Parts: sequence; structure tokens; C-alpha cells
Amino acid sequence: MNKSLSSTDLMALEDKYGAHNYHPLPVVLARGEGALVWDVEGKQYYDFLSAYSAVNQGHCHPKIIGALTEQANKMTLTSRAFFNDSLGVYEKYITEYFGYDKVLPMNTGAEADETALKLCRRWAYDKKGIPENQAKIIVCEGNFHGRTITIVSMSTDPDSFGGFGPFTPGFIKIPYNDLNALAEALKDPNIAGFLVEPIQGEAGVFVPDEGYLSKAYQMCKEKNVLFMADEVQTGIGRTGKLLACDHENVRPDVLILGKALSGGVYPVSAVLADDDIMMVIKPGEHGSTFGGNPVAARVAMAALQVVKDENLAERAETLGKIFREEMSAIQSDMITLVRGKGLLNAIIIKPKNGKEAWDVCVTMKENGLLAKPTHGDIIRFAPPLIITEEQLREAIEIIKKSILSFG
Ligand code: PLP
Repeated sequence: MNKSLSSTDLMALEDKYGAHNYHPLPVVLARGEGALVWDVEGKQYYDFLSAYSAVNQGHCHPKIIGALTEQANKMTLTSRAFFNDSLGVYEKYITEYFGYDKVLPMNTGAEADETALKLCRRWAYDKKGIPENQAKIIVCEGNFHGRTITIVSMSTDPDSFGGFGPFTPGFIKIPYNDLNALAEALKDPNIAGFLVEPIQGEAGVFVPDEGYLSKAYQMCKEKNVLFMADEVQTGIGRTGKLLACDHENVRPDVLILGKALSGGVYPVSAVLADDDIMMVIKPGEHGSTFGGNPVAARVAMAALQVVKDENLAERAETLGKIFREEMSAIQSDMITLVRGKGLLNAIIIKPKNGKEAWDVCVTMKENGLLAKPTHGDIIRFAPPLIITEEQLREAIEIIKKSILSFG
């Protein structure tokens, strides 16, 4: 049906009939394979966003699509009112994979974060002994954990929270990468948890100082506070280790995953924790119609197996070094900073002759590479981790050429 519709037609449809809650780059994609995508007119691009790090395993990975179609042909949804023949197998697989006693399956990243918040509060009342309704959770300025009312209540970004009050209470906001602020906040005996992104992705790939995560973890332990890592964007190979917390040998008390847990094939998210924490939630107290459905279970197992079989974390580590080295070598006063870990990287763009990060992204698109600016002046680069070195070098040339075209 779409065959006869051009990119312009399709963008016009979205504009007229869809809510204007996104501001996409003007490109209409129709097909993807590995690190490449094609628009409806057949033009090829490198995907350097990977759906915000969901497509770590590459577009339409045959093993993940195989798991999806096989299961979709047998059974898609039972709800949790009944058992199904995939969920338990998946639960065993993922808990052994990440080394936790239990998993609670959900669908989106935001839902997984919400789950972690509920788990933390309940643990605080049942185990830590915080008086009812008094539990507080420490979060970081610049955080991004999703879009629900409670999650935007934790946000310090006016685009996220502005005009959406009243907000959920119980959050203490401290500067990111600031252990003194954390120490001060932890003095409150009603603190139940600390929710942190090991690298702040949406904020513009902010990498904290080395030692921040491990010290923060220790400080939480000393105060019997749950260390909860939101690895929805950083997890599953993206930063050069399976988890970004692995760079500092930190094992979060509560691990929050999403996005690449399905290789971008299906909405699958998860919260992992040990029994002492997870078992505070009893039947009927939390859930989701689609959470843990058979398709999600099979897709997630396939997606995680691909990460292992294809050594995606190691690839991200090696290729990430090449990428940052090459970005730092570009002779342009438009690039003021290059930062990142593994294949989660960003450059900061100083406007030149009225041209900004958005214009750089439009030029890169014209030259065959897709990336998106964040917060006006930052461009995040996060290609699928299956990208080959040859493809990466070709993509780097496109980025270079595009930036240098601004003079
Ligand atoms: N947490 C982090 C760290 C994220 O980067 C995101 C999305 O970008 C989310 C949570 C929300 O995930 P979702 O969009 O699947 O709800």
C-alpha cells in the first residue's frame, strides 16, 4: 500500500494524523539490515542511532527474527493468568546470564524503571523498616528514565516535566557524578535507593569519573540503600562490556534493562534482583498484560545469545576506540569535545556561521549517515555493534566530510 507513497507523502501523513511529540530528521525508512537502513526511495544510510541503542545486534538479525516468527506462529500471548512454555525457560536463561536470582519481565524501559521504583519502596517498608509512605529515592540531575508521570517527576529537564504536574513525591535530586552530594543525601535515614544511569545517555553521553560508580555503590551499601542501575541504554554490550557497571566491577542490587534486550525487534524490558529484594512483591501487586509473553521471552533469549556468540561487547570496545580517535583527529573548530565509551559516543558542536548540530545531522543524512542531535549542540553516535571495521571507517569518512563541509 505504501509503495506509491513518497517520503514527502509519508511525512505529511505523520504531520497531519500523528501527535507532534517528536521532531524527526526528514528521512523515511523502509528497510534495515545490519548497520544499514534504506529510505522509501531506496537511498542507503548508516544507522548511527540504532533506535537509541535498541538495535545493538543490527537490523533484522536473522536469529532474532527467526525466534520471533517461530514463536509468533505458535502462540503470542497468554497473559500471566496462565503459565506458558517459554517464560520459565527465559527466566532461567536471563537470570543465569546476568547472575541474579530472579527477573521481573516488562515491556518498555519506562515500565522497568517504574517496576524498580515500586520494588525499592516496598523493600524499604518490608525489609529496611522505613515508616510507611516515607521512603525516598535519590536520583541524578540530567537523568532520563522515560516518560511516565512518576518518571518525569524525577526529571530536571523542563522539556520532560514542564506542564505535567502535579508530580510524584519522594525523590531527592542530586548532581550527577558528585559523590559529596550523594554522601550528604544518604544521611537521611529514609533513603531507600539510589537510581543512576552508569552513563547518562539522553543527557548527551555523560561519562562519570572513573570510580564514581564503585564508590557510590559502596556508600549505598554502608547505608543499606539499594543501588539501582538503569542500563536500559548502556546495557547489553553497548559500552564495551556486557553492562556499563562491569567497567567498575559493580553488581547493582537492582538491574534495569530494556531496548537491546530484544535487539530492537519487540518491546522487552526486565528488572533483575536477588530473592531478598524481588520476593517482597507478591501475587497481584505488580504486572503487565504483555510482560513476559512467549514472543518476548523467545526474542530476548535469541537477542542475548547473539550478543555472546558475536562478541558484541568486545567489538564495541575495540571499534569505540577507533571511533573516538578518528573523531578527535578531525580538524574542525565545530567539534569542541568527543566523549563516550565503547560504541556510545557523542561530539559537542559549536555553531558556525549560524549552522548547528541539527544542520550537521541533515548534511550527514544527505551524505548517507543518520544521527540525531540532543539538547541542541550534542550529536550522539551509536551504530549497531555488529558494524564491521570497514563499515565504521566508511561511516567516519562521511561524518568527517559532512563536518568539514561547514568550513
Ligand atoms: N532509561 C534510559 C536510560 C533510557 O535511555 C530510556 C530511553 O531512552 C528509558 C529508560 C526509557 O525507555 P522506553 O523509551 O523504552 O520507555
